[in-house]
Amino acid sequence: MSRQGSTLPSLVDERSAAIGGGTGASPGGVNARNARKQKVMAVASVAVLLLSGGIIYWQLFTGPPSAAAETRQRDLIDAKTGKQYLKFKIPPNSRFPYTNPDTGEATLYPAELCFWTRDGKAKLPPTYVLLNEYAGRPGDTICPDCGRKVVPHNPMPPPSVMSQLNAGGE
Ligand SMILES: [Zn+2]
Repeated sequence: MSRQGSTLPSLVDERSAAIGGGTGASPGGVNARNARKQKVMAVASVAVLLLSGGIIYWQLFTGPPSAAAETRQRDLIDAKTGKQYLKFKIPPNSRFPYTNPDTGEATLYPAELCFWTRDGKAKLPPTYVLLNEYAGRPGDTICPDCGRKVVPHNPMPPPSVMSQLNAGGE
């Protein structure tokens, strides 16, 4: 009797334990949900890492920006100081006047090249000429070396003259 009495409460205990387990199962469910959440977060963070790594990789190794930066070199002249900046690396997607790193002023303009000598032959290196319109001066731009007129996208001497340059230079 005493044993039955003891088994009955034990059953109740088991049931209450089972109920307790049931109620404990809901925190367990929360734990499982948290675990799942953590797993998702971990996967997401790995994905973010991979993505950012991929972006860095893309920026480092796709090349075009740096390759473009190398080709974006121009011969410039400062309109104020007259100083030449040859093979000047210009920022991408920028237009002249470019900022002079020495003065901090936007006074750098593309130089025109004049390959003429005063006696009508070709020469290298050319004379770098700042156009009057860039310098804010009126009138035609005259090459200070040969006295010829210099225009935007100044044409090179004809091939016959340039070929004499090569023959004479060697
Ligand atoms: Zn000239």
